[in-house]
Amino acid sequence: MLIFGDVARTFQELESKSGRLEMTDILAELFKKTTAGEIDKLAYLIQGQLAPPYEGIDLGVGERFVVEAIAHSAGYSPEQVDRHYKKSGDLGATAEELLSKKKQQALSVREMDIAYVYNAFMKIARSGGPGSQELKIKLLTELLNNASALEARFIVRFALGRLRLGVGDPTILDALSVATVGDKSMREPLDRAYNVCSDIGYVAKTYLESPEKIKGFRVQPFKPLMPALAERLSTPKEIMGKLGKCGVEMKYDGFRLQCHKKANKVELYSRKLERMTLMLPEVVREVEGLKAKELIFEGEALAYDAKHKRYFSFQETMHRKRKHGIKEAQKELPLNVFCFDILYLDGRDMTNEPYAERRRALETLFPKGILRASECRLVENTAELEKLFQESITSGLEGIMAKDLNAPYTAGKRKFAWIKLKKSYGKAVDTVDGVIVGYYLGKGSRAEFEFGGLLIAVRNEDTGKLETVAKIGSGFSEDEMVSFEKMLDKIKAKEPPEDLVYLIEAPDFWVEPKYVVEVAFDEITKSPTHTCGLREGNGKGYALRFPRLVQVRKDKAVKDATTTSEVEEMFGLQHSRS
Ligand code: ATP
Repeated sequence: MLIFGDVARTFQELESKSGRLEMTDILAELFKKTTAGEIDKLAYLIQGQLAPPYEGIDLGVGERFVVEAIAHSAGYSPEQVDRHYKKSGDLGATAEELLSKKKQQALSVREMDIAYVYNAFMKIARSGGPGSQELKIKLLTELLNNASALEARFIVRFALGRLRLGVGDPTILDALSVATVGDKSMREPLDRAYNVCSDIGYVAKTYLESPEKIKGFRVQPFKPLMPALAERLSTPKEIMGKLGKCGVEMKYDGFRLQCHKKANKVELYSRKLERMTLMLPEVVREVEGLKAKELIFEGEALAYDAKHKRYFSFQETMHRKRKHGIKEAQKELPLNVFCFDILYLDGRDMTNEPYAERRRALETLFPKGILRASECRLVENTAELEKLFQESITSGLEGIMAKDLNAPYTAGKRKFAWIKLKKSYGKAVDTVDGVIVGYYLGKGSRAEFEFGGLLIAVRNEDTGKLETVAKIGSGFSEDEMVSFEKMLDKIKAKEPPEDLVYLIEAPDFWVEPKYVVEVAFDEITKSPTHTCGLREGNGKGYALRFPRLVQVRKDKAVKDATTTSEVEEMFGLQHSRS
């Protein structure tokens, strides 16, 4: 039985470390004490969640609830807790300190194991309806009553979604391997399993029950795969040089959908793997009507005006991602799904089959209709590729996707199995999907606005840190300024994000890293003020020259933002372009 005290002590130790290797070993020691029945719960808690995101399980406790629960449990008034929190800036630390000075001892304190804590959180998440607020506070208070001061620190941070141990998924997978076989040799099969089901708890549990099952792990309906991602190259010639004869598909600019079906049940998932089933009833109906009994496929959903044969823009299409007014939206923005890959068909896991094979299956499955196969042609030389690219732009599409005929589906990975070639934005050479980490107040004629610019960072995959790459100070419309002000005011923070590495002067406000924006730019330059790609010895980081906002990428989470190594690659591509 894994005692929660051991978990909290390990979390405390993890907090003081930053090296991946050290963190892996510390976690591996904890995993050695964990049974197959407990490991899923532990893995979810480390990720700061109770289940994979597509299950939609949310604790639903705000700061107010947590303050109340700490007050009840520690015997203080909510105002006293608030006052302490103002000083500490971290409710976890406040809970720890106030509980260590606990005025009224709870009558019976039980030692908690991981299952007890996890189940209590589940109960909090599942309580809904009238009176649920009181119930949530009561359940959290009970949990704190049984907790030591150190345990309380992590319970509170978890409840607020601010656990942030700095442990990424790759470290969890490495630690599972080290805990069981003493080295990282099981990392690869674990990684594949995780990429094709996106459920860390399920992978960890399956692995402890049977390592063999992980080696032969198969995709399953209703466990969404992490989307395969495309590399970028700048010219048709480079693409042909890399792939040779290849499949070239039109690149549609809508939102990505992963559709799952088994018997009568259908679920649709977004690029972030959130469930979208209820929002798109017409797509669900079409998938239900397909002959295949069990199926997973992917496509790009795009609003299409059949009467005028016109694609709606990405911005217009995105209005379909809504929870209300679905009937009206369906009429105004009817969707077509351009299906571009098939991953599972009636018991056959197709992810390891070559693209050419998957494409054959796809084309027989989707005749014309709302669901239809994306346009695709076999291309043998640069001139043909160039021609298709021009065709795509003239018909209002975004560019093309060139695909390696022999490549498997590279779930969760950005590989040269797919290469994108996109039209450019005015003078801009490319775009970066960056994380907003801070913002500025309006200046001069725009001083009336509580918003005037954004500080943008990208993700360093090797270190798990965010690194700044641009400050966007102009080019916002008044509507955009108002909407950013509203959006960012809610996530203002006193301190810079914990994972941020920066040299630039602090912005007017820091924010919790939550939103991703697409930023166009003219060039990538070396910069003394930005930390993207800055390493000991190389002196300068990368910065975006003339950065400007293209749009907010609501379909991307922080973990999907552009990485430092992608910026580095784009920097390299600039030279090949010129
Ligand atoms: P990425 O998904 O690579 O992180 P992104 O979301 O900014 O980047 P793009 O760079 O525009 O998107 O290109 C990849 C996306 O293109 C895919 O995620 C998918 O949604 C979309 N797409 C459109 N048409 C196709 C197609 N025929 N094949 C594959 N993907 C396509």
